[in-house]
Amino acid sequence: MTSPQDNRIFHFPPWGPGEPIESYRHRKRLAFDTWSAQRSAMLARTDSAGRPLYRVTSGGNIVRTKPITKCLKKRILTRDGNRCVECGSTKWLEIAHIEPYRVGGNNADDNLRTLCNPCHQAEGRNAVLSH
Ligand SMILES: [Zn+2]
Repeated sequence: MTSPQDNRIFHFPPWGPGEPIESYRHRKRLAFDTWSAQRSAMLARTDSAGRPLYRVTSGGNIVRTKPITKCLKKRILTRDGNRCVECGSTKWLEIAHIEPYRVGGNNADDNLRTLCNPCHQAEGRNAVLSH
């Protein structure tokens, strides 16, 4: 195992001095398996009508099937007075789902609100902790 301290040092070869190549390959395999399992889990998520929430683009990225459009974003920002509804900040505003998108929350106006990036991130962390 490498300590967090080691991550800041650039190693070449990437498996670092002293680590057997098999151990390095094993770590890479585990990381890849975790990554592909997370992708599969995301792609398996559906809304209440059974429609997928995420799709794969031609470039291989995973995107939402129901993104927040510019028009929708503008409408919610205007409704909330171009301020974070939590702290009143006017900087780094984002549109946040009240019922999270990943569990099927829709893009209806009453499921969306304006949050600044710090409030949005804090909310995300709380959601992770409470689940
Ligand atoms: Zn805020």
